[in-house]
Amino acid sequence: MDTEDAAWLSPGDAAEIRRSLTSQFAEEFGHGPSGVWFAPGRANLNGEHVDFHGGRCLPMALAHGTYVAAAPRTDGMLYLRTLEPTLDAGVQQVCISEVTSGPDADVHTITDDQPCGWTKYVGGTLWALRALGEEIDELAVDESFGADLLITSTLPIGGGLSSSAALECSAMLAFVAMATPLGRANPGAALDAALTDELRARLAAACVRAEVEMVGAGTGGLDQTVSLRGRAAHLLSLDCRDFTVDRIPASGLLADHRFVAVDTGQAHWLGDGQFDDRRADSEAAMRLLEVERLRDLLPDRPGTADVSAVLRRFDERAGAGETLPSPVDGAPARDRAACRRRLRHALTEMVRSEELHGFLSDDELDAESTAMLVGNLMTAGHASMRDEAEVSFPAANTVVETAVEKGAPGARLIGGGFGGSALLLCRADDVATITGAVASACAEAGHRTPRFLEITPSDPAH
Ligand code: ADP
Repeated sequence: MDTEDAAWLSPGDAAEIRRSLTSQFAEEFGHGPSGVWFAPGRANLNGEHVDFHGGRCLPMALAHGTYVAAAPRTDGMLYLRTLEPTLDAGVQQVCISEVTSGPDADVHTITDDQPCGWTKYVGGTLWALRALGEEIDELAVDESFGADLLITSTLPIGGGLSSSAALECSAMLAFVAMATPLGRANPGAALDAALTDELRARLAAACVRAEVEMVGAGTGGLDQTVSLRGRAAHLLSLDCRDFTVDRIPASGLLADHRFVAVDTGQAHWLGDGQFDDRRADSEAAMRLLEVERLRDLLPDRPGTADVSAVLRRFDERAGAGETLPSPVDGAPARDRAACRRRLRHALTEMVRSEELHGFLSDDELDAESTAMLVGNLMTAGHASMRDEAEVSFPAANTVVETAVEKGAPGARLIGGGFGGSALLLCRADDVATITGAVASACAEAGHRTPRFLEITPSDPAH
């Protein structure tokens, strides 16, 4: 694959990025960083809009991700700069001791008049680590701890590949390394080994807290788990009931096939209300069916008959009315048919994940058959995102339809939707033809020029 091509977004040369970030850090802050930490973005084969319902997800960590160069301070302040051109407004100052909880909390006490929302992800991460450190001694953070941070990313921002989780998780590792007894006892790369899967799970949960409570986004934990707990050459099978993870080798599937992400160039903004709106529909269904999580409506190994049974129960309980009460007391009622569609998406998506887990772990299937079965489920997942969750958009539909028409075994929208990226599964030999056809179809339809990323299941944050 020619990743020099402008249409391809390369993960870059990690050593070179680290060197360059280190020297830019010294220029910006007048002293060298203590280190550079990296956290990957993620792509998800299946399990969209189900992590917060306890469903199973089938994600992988990417080679693309976010790098943070950092040095500690002793005045409790964060000085943050991102090199992301669309967000860079110079060094931003965050007074961490003034951070309080709640989505409207003033995480960023910023020196200029233009508050930068992105600083909430970083300030929130330190805030959440401090809280975690009160429970786990080896992660305790000194009162006076602060830091200088310089950030760069090889991910598209708002591209549905979790640049936000990559930012939180890279900053989290930097803070753990510099501010905690665990980090001080395990300098440099030793920290990677010291961070057990259990500790990584706790850190992922803290990053989720930062995003939910500080940024106010409705994340369910998939992204942070993959970024901190992914594995090179493996897919994760993540049970979001308890965040247990199985790691499934991807080498068989990827012997003759490749995953390609297509960034449509249409940024999605989870905070803009539409994502929350979809979630409110499914919460209205949960309320009607009297469960805390939609996953609890299905048995351990669910199939399509189980989905039909739940939908029948929904119909009986909803009666003939056109609306359901809102999950939030006093808020307007929700459209009954829309709530049923969200429910159906979540349940069928959970069944697809279970089926995928089965296919991917079945040693008796040859690679070609696995690719066909996986691909069919990916494309079915896209149809569900489009018609039931109703989070797809014209450019993603063009990408998916074109790829499948040109012979891709599977293609689907990934991430929260309303913008972002699609994931394609292609035979290695067909990648150039399929991506070429996708680019032409997008141009013909008047969509933005797409960018392609080769997706290689990669190491977690380190
Ligand atoms: P994505 O799908 O990329 O995760 P989100 O909308 O969830 O999209 O997160 C994008 C937001 O995360 C940005 O608007 C910004 O606030 C923050 N962010 C992500 N990467 C960076 C970065 N490299 N520098 C600064 N902020 C970033």
